[in-house]
Amino acid sequence: MSGYTPGEQMNSPDVVKLNTNENPYAPSPRVFEAVADALNGQSLRKYPQPLGDTFRQAAGRVLNVDPDSILVGNGSDDILTILTRAFVPEGGRVAFPTPSYVLYKSLADIQGATSQTVPFTRDWTPPSPWPVRGAHLTYFANPNSPSGTILRREAIAQLAEQVGGPFVLDEAYAEFAEDNGLSLIGQLPDFVITRTFSKFYALAGLRFGMAIAEPKLIRELAKVKDSYNCDVLALAAATATIEDQEYYSDIRSRILATRGRMAVALTELGFAVTPSQTNFLWCRHPERPLKPIYEALKTKKILVRYMNYPDSGDGLRITVGSPKDIERLLTELAVILKQ
Ligand SMILES: *Cc1c(COP(=O)(O)O)cnc(C)c1O
Repeated sequence: MSGYTPGEQMNSPDVVKLNTNENPYAPSPRVFEAVADALNGQSLRKYPQPLGDTFRQAAGRVLNVDPDSILVGNGSDDILTILTRAFVPEGGRVAFPTPSYVLYKSLADIQGATSQTVPFTRDWTPPSPWPVRGAHLTYFANPNSPSGTILRREAIAQLAEQVGGPFVLDEAYAEFAEDNGLSLIGQLPDFVITRTFSKFYALAGLRFGMAIAEPKLIRELAKVKDSYNCDVLALAAATATIEDQEYYSDIRSRILATRGRMAVALTELGFAVTPSQTNFLWCRHPERPLKPIYEALKTKKILVRYMNYPDSGDGLRITVGSPKDIERLLTELAVILKQ
């Protein structure tokens, strides 16, 4: 197998990093207090809560769901791994649309399963009816990456019914979007939502994610996870984070405002920009090849994600960074495009 290649992590401070959709703002100040409180011999000496019950109570209150319908994970990639191991036998079948999150195929490969990919239509909707029946697991990123596009909850419900089997709605970017599938929990059988704290909650370095599903399904998934998959510091930080919605709603407004300005500016530079419901923009250019643009930006220490999909061509996926970083990006792009 070829293995998943994570986005480049050039972490020197003078690099403008717009390639893996991290949040340009710091996490809530309450996170630092919570981690400092947990950073003592007594709590480090002992094992953490296996199911993260304190976090589950807090998240249940904030999201208005039963705490027993939440499974904690060491990043949502951990959750996706747990789901794949729980649902997919060796030689099984996994389905997902393309272009989408590239990790789904790697997870299927690791499990010794076959991937069945379903191309999105030109407007980034799945074909209807969904053509793959009987897969052991179907993944659907919503909003999708790299497109940033979204299906409304009614369309998701319809799709999940057509899929007719276990369905994972990967909501890594839901907090930036106008809609999400939370109200579908309990309405559809074997329906799971995954969330991450890496993007909206600005904790990519800490590693935290969760699954939301009916409690009886969560109990089965818990059998598959490592007993202590989230450490005390991550659990303390995640609890403080989800309880500080006020702080994050301010960050959301700022990122969405930058996203709007950035889309206009990139369009003026000649890019075809797909309207986004996330903290990144999917950009193509009708006249200029994209790989040289990516490379020229990199020599200027600006990192964006160049994606090339065999079935649908290439594009640049650019994270909505801080206003200063985006200004630098736009200035450099204007220079590059003049050459
Ligand atoms: C970033 C991302 C994830 C993974 O998030 P982690 O919690 O950092 O593992 C999962 N799915 C999609 C679509 C993503 O973009």
